[in-house]
Amino acid sequence: MPNSTADHQAQELIDFSGVLAELNASFDSGKTRSLAWRRDQLFAVERMMKEREADLFHALHRDLGKSPMEAFTTETSYVSSDAAHCRKHMSRWSRRKRVSTPIVGQPGKSWIQPEALGVVLIIGAWNYPIQLVLAGMNAAIAAGNCVIIKPSELAPASSALLAELIPKYLDPDCIRVVEGGVAETTALLELPFDHILYTGSASVGRIVMAAAAKNLTPVTLELGGKSPCVVMPDANLETTAKRIAWGKFSNAGQICIAPDYILTDAATEARLLPLLAKAVREMFGDDPQQSDSYCRIINQRHFERVSRLLDSGTLAFGGQTDASDRYIAPTVLTNVAPGSAIMQEEIFGPVLPIVRAENLEDAIAHIRSGEKPLAAYLFTNDKTTQEKFLAIISSGNACINDVMMFMAVSELPFGGVGESGMGAYSGRRGFETFSHMKSVMKRGWWPDLNVRYAPYTDKKFRFLRKIR
Ligand code: NAD
Repeated sequence: MPNSTADHQAQELIDFSGVLAELNASFDSGKTRSLAWRRDQLFAVERMMKEREADLFHALHRDLGKSPMEAFTTETSYVSSDAAHCRKHMSRWSRRKRVSTPIVGQPGKSWIQPEALGVVLIIGAWNYPIQLVLAGMNAAIAAGNCVIIKPSELAPASSALLAELIPKYLDPDCIRVVEGGVAETTALLELPFDHILYTGSASVGRIVMAAAAKNLTPVTLELGGKSPCVVMPDANLETTAKRIAWGKFSNAGQICIAPDYILTDAATEARLLPLLAKAVREMFGDDPQQSDSYCRIINQRHFERVSRLLDSGTLAFGGQTDASDRYIAPTVLTNVAPGSAIMQEEIFGPVLPIVRAENLEDAIAHIRSGEKPLAAYLFTNDKTTQEKFLAIISSGNACINDVMMFMAVSELPFGGVGESGMGAYSGRRGFETFSHMKSVMKRGWWPDLNVRYAPYTDKKFRFLRKIR
């Protein structure tokens, strides 16, 4: 390990405590708590997404081969609508909420008063390199916080563009970008932030949470996992196939809530396969490598990782790879054993295994034998099946008869449970994540009942029992 001392010394040179001190000073000035400041910043986010759309599209294309339309729907317009939603509702979200005061507290008033936390650190992942940091930032701004964002180094064009644009559009006294990888993130994590929002893998999530524990910093962890997709025989299979293919092969499968694998019976699998192949052909043509709508794998390491999973079953269609282009074709595998390599980890790539489950009970048993997923999907018309699935399967999010579309509903909180994460954001829930809900009680002076004060006589005790 000849370099470990040098690495350690290099790491020690990275010190962001000055940046944090500046942001703490800005927070203490009270600037970020004014609704006008928050409104200006959120308007600026909307303007940035609009005015620099071409640059953002270009960066996303360089990092992931994202088409302008996919970049628009899942990144720029998503961030912009989210900023507008926060801007329009934050004044209502910020209001005090009155609660009733019991007789022992009379005369008095009680309420819950949201207050900003301070300086928030947002660490993003590479698969939605703009959206994952900026949607978190929108919520943190709406709640009145200062923010440091640390985009993923694995999407370098997007990270560099954010580092260029944020200081131009947003208040540099309160909002900063720190670029970098493990060393920079490690240095940031040593500092006492008021909240950390981390998006990425569970293994790094554990590192983030352990570092945060040293400062008693609360964390929101947006992680991943294997999101199952159960297809029952009575589903409208043509639409089911289109929706699953869209969810699995958008962003080349590099989506935390992509349907990871299908669970279905043999007869339904036989009917579904040609429909999946048709849906892929309609979306990306006969040769998806030539399609402008089809993304690339983020880097060589992930290309090799996903490629290794291709022989986990029988190839139904796809399977072509091109390392020089980081291209993996939309692929469906059948005869996939539950113990095969592809079923041991989140796939995070365009390979869709079909695992046999002869009935709902089989499917439920399979899902419950693994970790709690970030999303769970079920395709069926049967209401009893739908209710049973929702009642028995614990998952961060769920969708019946579609995939991923809950992301389009601003007021649905987004977050995992168990191994897929903790905490949530989006809409009001994002505002609450980055707020402290302070309990306040305000007392009147008179009457000041003597009953609570010592000496604790029998008479006082009897009276207290009566009014409790
Ligand atoms: P990644 O490699 O970009 O890492 C995420 C962040 O962690 C980066 O900013 C990176 O710099 C930082 N990081 C990496 N190693 C670190 C270390 N040792 N110490 C401190 N910081 C470190 O992304 P990834 O982890 O490959 O992300 C993929 C995972 O993220 C998948 O599991 C996916 O499901 C999940 N994900 C979840 C969501 C969600 O919203 N729940 C969204 C996107 C991705």
